[in-house]
Amino acid sequence: MGSADGPKQSDNWIRRILRRPLTTTLNVIGVSYYTSVTILGAILQWTVVLPELSHALGFSLASHRALMLYLFANAMGNYLLAASSDVHLKKRKRTSFLTANRYPMIPFRAHYCKVCDQCIRKHDHHCFILGKCVGYNNQKYFIYCSLHTALVSVYALLTTAMYMHVSFKTKFLGPFTFFTLLPSSMERWFFGSAGSQELLLVLFLYVCLTGAFGGLCFFTWQMFLMVMGLTTHEAINGERGTDTSIWENFTDTLGKYWLLGMLAPLPLPQYGTGMYEGVTQLARNHSD
Ligand SMILES: [Zn+2]
Ligand SMILES: [Zn+2]
Repeated sequence: MGSADGPKQSDNWIRRILRRPLTTTLNVIGVSYYTSVTILGAILQWTVVLPELSHALGFSLASHRALMLYLFANAMGNYLLAASSDVHLKKRKRTSFLTANRYPMIPFRAHYCKVCDQCIRKHDHHCFILGKCVGYNNQKYFIYCSLHTALVSVYALLTTAMYMHVSFKTKFLGPFTFFTLLPSSMERWFFGSAGSQELLLVLFLYVCLTGAFGGLCFFTWQMFLMVMGLTTHEAINGERGTDTSIWENFTDTLGKYWLLGMLAPLPLPQYGTGMYEGVTQLARNHSD
């Protein structure tokens, strides 16, 4: 790695974008999708869905707004923490331009990411929604973000569906509704029997469904990896992970203050260094 880079290789962000237009575009799309949909969804809940529902069904508006805001703050807060974490290994200054290897010692579990053009400590995967890699320093925020994104999506899905049932008399026939709801709503909108507002709410329901399903999948996958002592990179490439106990994997990933982190979006310290010296002998013979 690094050997293909010419001696004039620079870290200028404009050059980086020009070198990788597709992955940069995917990063921009992913980050804009998550942030806009989460913020606009929360505004929609706060200003339209919850007031209307509390008026129609007689529940406490303040407590539902507080619950929605709490889940939103956890999802968005952990997202921002994950996105702002420094995940890469420090590059060593090259002593001569002939020395291609910019990371003379790549520790066990660290891997190079082509999109970020960085070596990531305990590399898990590159996340286009986050616009950067998930690694040792932000994995816990990524896990909490997945969990709270799933929870806030389920909450928004249920309340928005109830709101549509109350305001537009939309019929929900169990989970199979989602196979027919979008095509039938688009047809009714096209022929003028449904307004744009109704169609946008239907689209929002699918956004919530995606968030709930995606968040739950990532959270479950990360829990599985934690039990197995693996990273996504290791699982995909068939590499052996660590031989440590489940509890050690748990604290290595989530730190010592995991309960606090699960309840509030806080910048909490990691447990170790993410270097894994002496954990296993496999460090030298894996290739990539
Ligand atoms: Zn990356
Ligand atoms: Zn590898």
